[in-house]
Amino acid sequence: MKKLVILGSTGSIGVQALEVVGASDGLEVVGLSAGRNWEGLVEQARDHGVPVALADPDAAAAARGAWNGRVLAGEEGIRELVVTSGADLVLNAMVGSAGLGPTIVALTEGIDLALANKESLVVGGSLVTALAEATDSRIVPVDSEHSALHQLVRGETGNVERLVLTASGGPFRGRSDLTGVTREEALAHPTWEMGGKITIDSATLINKGLELIEAHHLFGVPYERIDVVVHPQSIVHAIVHLNDGSSLAHLGYPDMRVPISYALHSPERADVEVRTLDLAETGELSFEEPDLEAFPCLRLAREAGEAGGTAPCVLNAANEVAVEAFLGGRIPFTGIADVVAQTLDAVPATEPSHFEDLFAADAEAREEAARLIERANGTSPAGRTTTRGRASK
Ligand code: NDP
Repeated sequence: MKKLVILGSTGSIGVQALEVVGASDGLEVVGLSAGRNWEGLVEQARDHGVPVALADPDAAAAARGAWNGRVLAGEEGIRELVVTSGADLVLNAMVGSAGLGPTIVALTEGIDLALANKESLVVGGSLVTALAEATDSRIVPVDSEHSALHQLVRGETGNVERLVLTASGGPFRGRSDLTGVTREEALAHPTWEMGGKITIDSATLINKGLELIEAHHLFGVPYERIDVVVHPQSIVHAIVHLNDGSSLAHLGYPDMRVPISYALHSPERADVEVRTLDLAETGELSFEEPDLEAFPCLRLAREAGEAGGTAPCVLNAANEVAVEAFLGGRIPFTGIADVVAQTLDAVPATEPSHFEDLFAADAEAREEAARLIERANGTSPAGRTTTRGRASK
């Protein structure tokens, strides 16, 4: 029986992971955590009878009033949960760069990591992969494209020429002018049902850029050998081109329980109740180049990845602040790319020697992005300010 802690258990990935656990006889939950949603977490804790942690101290206090079990509080509480739970595996399904701290703790303890929190690798980069190597812990990706690549590259060491990540294209595929698109339109993803932040990231295509950086670190492949192709049906999740001219693809209906199950049971496989792929019924599988003019965030992410050092950390922090501002109605959709571009310009990339450097770059980028948003809402019109010729649509 594999002992599992789920961080972010009240979110989209977390809830589906609990479904996978419910259908498995090889997994036992030993700890759960959330940000603020104490009601949802207490309900899960009652079902599983396990200790929990809430990042928000007030939410933790409310949970203590409603449940007699162990409730830990704050970021330290989440770290303590990981360390004291006796877990063999931590599923990190938290959203945002807040996930990096618990990733570091799990890997430092030598605990294997099922990683949905792509920000851990985008921000932590080679410091995270080096830590995993030093403590001999495995990182198994949960992101569907990376799960696909993980399965495709197994046994192909030295044979991989190129990696291809597919992207649905999001709700605005095919549009060249994204001025005035609403929050509701941006939250209506055509193929995947996900949490709010990643849904907006899919609409700007920065999600694919974050995944590009994640793939670079997970598989040690240089950026110039990782492609992104738009595939609206989301049936092909990734492709690997090999040195003998073979190309391997991973296919399936879009359902996150499949990669979640793979990450939780790996290196074994377990039954998942999903429909077998019917290609004749699917009919057409189509592919096209991403439009980097309409979706500048994808280009910005590739550039930040190539620049390396703290640049991806700055990109990610600026994007988190900008997405929150967009969801709060403080900047337009096109303003997200502006804030990211201008923050990258304002906060120069440096080479981090330890994790503290990354936390400092994250904080500096957040401050800069917030300042830009404030300024855009005051003297200069939101979404119009661009630097070094990076125009928004
Ligand atoms: P959700 O927003 O649905 O859930 C996020 C979870 O993290 C919730 O449990 C939330 O708690 C918790 N959380 C939020 N902020 C904090 C914090 N500061 N400290 C501790 N916990 C926190 O996100 P998703 O499930 O959609 O995504 C999770 C991760 O997985 C992201 O990195 C995303 O990019 C990645 N991913 C998601 C996919 C999907 O299909 N959803 C697909 C591939 C990758 P609370 O409920 O209290 O807010």
